[in-house]
Formats: sequence, structure tokens, C-alpha cells
Amino acid sequence: MAIGTALSLSALVAVNSSPAGAATRPPTVVSLTFDDSNADQMAAEQTLKANGLPATFYTVDGWIGAQGYLTRANLSTISADGNEIAGHTVTHPDLIDINPAEAQRQICDDRATLDSWGYKPVDFAYPFADANPTVEAMAKNCGYNTARGLGDVVSPGDCAGCQYAEQTPPADPYYLKVPDQVDSTWTLAQMKSEVTNAVSHGGGWLVLTFHHICAPITAAGTLPCPADQSTTPTIFNAFASWLASYAKTVANNTSVATVDQEVRKYLGSAYPAYVTPQAVPNPAPAPVGVNALSNPSLETTDPNTGFPTCFQPGGWGSNSAAWSASTPGHTGTAAEQLTLSNYSSGDAKLLPTLDLGTCSPSVVPGKTYNLSTWYTSTGTTQFALYYRDSTGAWYYWTSSPWFNTASTWTQATFTTPPVPANAVAMTFGLALISNGTLNTDDYSLVDPGTAAAAKSATAVPGLSNPTSFLDPASVFGAGLVAANRTVAKAPHSHLRPLLPGGRTVKSGHRIAVPELGPVGRG
Ligand SMILES: [Zn+2]
Repeated sequence: MAIGTALSLSALVAVNSSPAGAATRPPTVVSLTFDDSNADQMAAEQTLKANGLPATFYTVDGWIGAQGYLTRANLSTISADGNEIAGHTVTHPDLIDINPAEAQRQICDDRATLDSWGYKPVDFAYPFADANPTVEAMAKNCGYNTARGLGDVVSPGDCAGCQYAEQTPPADPYYLKVPDQVDSTWTLAQMKSEVTNAVSHGGGWLVLTFHHICAPITAAGTLPCPADQSTTPTIFNAFASWLASYAKTVANNTSVATVDQEVRKYLGSAYPAYVTPQAVPNPAPAPVGVNALSNPSLETTDPNTGFPTCFQPGGWGSNSAAWSASTPGHTGTAAEQLTLSNYSSGDAKLLPTLDLGTCSPSVVPGKTYNLSTWYTSTGTTQFALYYRDSTGAWYYWTSSPWFNTASTWTQATFTTPPVPANAVAMTFGLALISNGTLNTDDYSLVDPGTAAAAKSATAVPGLSNPTSFLDPASVFGAGLVAANRTVAKAPHSHLRPLLPGGRTVKSGHRIAVPELGPVGRG
């Protein structure tokens, strides 16, 4: 904040001392914003610092510390350098696709965690820039002063006829109008034009959105530098240097501020007192003996994903996964079919969605749970288990022994070890770990109660689990989800859900996420 204040003051002083230059030109404020907590933003932040430019970092707290993302130490540095730590949900879901209770947890729990880490988050950005009046009200009620959209301001090749900047105060602070996110199609000249066009069209508030600052650019949806989310350090550094210089030219009447700095400026004495965030409690665990899963027989389909409601695909490694609904199921009409080909490593599996409680069941530390899935398979399988901590971060937990092939519906069962002390919820999938076709149905997770005898795992005679471990970074970002589905809208993500585990990752490993949900626009 010190940086922005200094800039604003110096701009004011400069204006007052040169009335002839600036008095005729309305002010323009540029806010540089960074989404998704990508690790490559750290170098960009240092470039901004060197140029005296503050920025806003919309933070996905559930991803902090995972492979490829900013760390807690990075956030400390970013904040200490005068930047704003803002909110962007716990695990980056599309908020209009999930139920209201889940959306509220996603917005409020992220804010509560960031507050518990010592920040004062007051601004928010919608994942995928997707919002509706209900979600906008949630952002407000969670204590945010603004929430950012995307795509409502003139952008390179888009939004012709739109305004050149947001007005202050904005007509709707809970859907700030900003250009499209910066991607690899933007030239340096186009980036500069965003600023100069705003200046020459009456000024206002220009909020630019960055995801990856990264080179060389890779294909859209593929890490490390997805074309649809990246600009290069060469372009970014040149732009930062140009912007710092441009803002020093009095006649441009342009300043650079964090979102919060600008909100404080235009609200003045109407700026609201800080609202201490309240995390929304997790749902209570299911009673003893009751299946804790939603849609366990896979009978309903989520129109947004094409997968069974409350389930998501996961997997990692070098293989090709194809998904389809199959019929009949073990019970009911629907089961899920997974065909794996070109297998050389990793796995693929269907799991209860890694969310904040709508689909991933709450569990109690120290308890053991009985898992079960009915299956037929032409390849070897095993359960892979994951748990979530109170900040929304997911971890690989453990895997079961292997299960053999089965030509008729067969029940795979596994009793978990005691739930780790920091776990609040879990999920699991029956992972296919070879070429073949796997059908699954009738998933269950049951607390057997203290009186129930723990079931033993069904080990496969003659098969033993390898003990070598791979570096999960070596499989990070590989492949695409090949969902053989009809979905209600275009998929946001192109990144394969990566859920390493089993033979490759040690228990307690913080899993490398984009697997919790697609990453991309917004
Ligand atoms: Zn995002």
C-alpha cells in the first residue's frame, strides 16, 4: 500500500505543479491483477517491484504450496512488497454450476483462510468470470468490496463498441468490467493500447488480468505456459517498464494502483470497515452405517460436466483415458466405463468430486472407514485415497492393494487406515493401472462404528505393489481429459485432472492441482 500511496501522492503533486498538462485530461487508473496463484507470477512480481508498480493477486488458497503454484512464503513476499492479496475461491470451481452452499464455502472459506494467514482480503475475482446475482450477493455477504469479471471492456480483437475502461465508482462493484484476460495473442503494442485507449477515451479504471508469465508458450490448455493463459516475460517486462514510465508523464494523468487502493480512493469516507470472515462449517459426517456418498449408483448426470453428478475423473501419467456412461449398472441403469490405452505409467479413476463438502464426505480424524465399489475390469485396479484439510488443500493419502480382473460385477472393498489428524474430508476412486476397460458402479463410504469389525483388504494373490516412487513433477500437466460427453457448455479446462498416488507418491504429499478443477479463463 505504501507504494501505491506514494505513487498517487506524487501524481497529485505533479498534477498540481503542472496544471496546464493534466487538468484537461481525466485520470486513468491501471490495476494489474494476477489470477490462480501460478508460481511463475513470482518473477513478474519482482519485475513490478523493480518498476515501483503495485498489483493485486487473486489467490486460490487451496492451491498454495502445491506443485506449480505460489507458496505461503511467496504470498508473504508479495504482500510485504506492497501488493494486495485478494480472493479467488478455495479450489476454483465455476460458482454458477455448483449448489449455493458449496459456492458460499468456496468464497467465504478462501477469505477466512487468507485472513488466518494474516491478510485482509477485500476484493474477489470469479473463477472463469462466471457469476449471477446469487453468486454476486455471496461475494458481498462474505465481506468483499468488489468482484471482478472479464470481457466487458475493449480488448484486442474483442468487445468492439464496448467501453475502454470501467467507470469509478463502478455501476456494479460485484462484477467489475475489465478487458479479456491477457493471453499469448496479445502483442506488446496491444497491451500498451489498452492503456492509451483508456486515456484517450476519457480515462477511467483499466484492470488488466494475467495468469501465467511464462515462456516458451505451449499449446492452449497445456502446462507450463498455456497459450490461452500466458504472456511471455519478454513482453511483460517491457510492458511493466513502459507503464512505469508512462505513469510518470504528467500529461497522461495515469497512475497504477491495486484494486483496493482504487476502491479506497473512490469510496473515500464511504469505504466500509473490514468484515472479519466466517468460514462456513463443513457438513456433519454421515451417521454410522450410512453411505456418505451422493449419487452413489451414478444414476444422475451433471449437465455441466457430462459425468455422474458429484463425481469427477482423475488420473495422471502416460496413458490415454476414454470415458463413457455404460448400461446397465450393477444396480440401476447407469455405470461409468473407463478405457485406458497406450499405458506406460499412472492411472485413471472416477472419484466423488474433490469439493468442500457437497460431494466429498466429511470424516473424523482417527476413525477408519469402509470403502466399496462394484466393478468389472479387464485390467488391474486399486483404490487411491485423498483427504482434504481445513484450508481446502487436498493430499494424496494412501492406496489399497491391487484388485484382479473381473468379468462379472465384483465388489472391491478396503478399510482405510485411521484418518489423519488434519483431515476433514476424503474421497477415493478405483484406479485402473493398466491398459483395459473398467466399469464401476455403486460406490460407498461407510463409518462402521466402533463396534464393527474392520474388513480386511482384498489383496490379489500373485500381485505385489511396486515400491518405487516417481517425481510427480515428471507427470505434471500431461495429457487431456478425453471426456466422451455431451456437456451443457464448453469445458473451461483443458488440463487433465491430475491425481497422483498409489505406487508413485508418498502419503501426505500435497497433490499438484489443477486436478481439483479446471483452470483457465478468469
Ligand atoms: Zn482463475
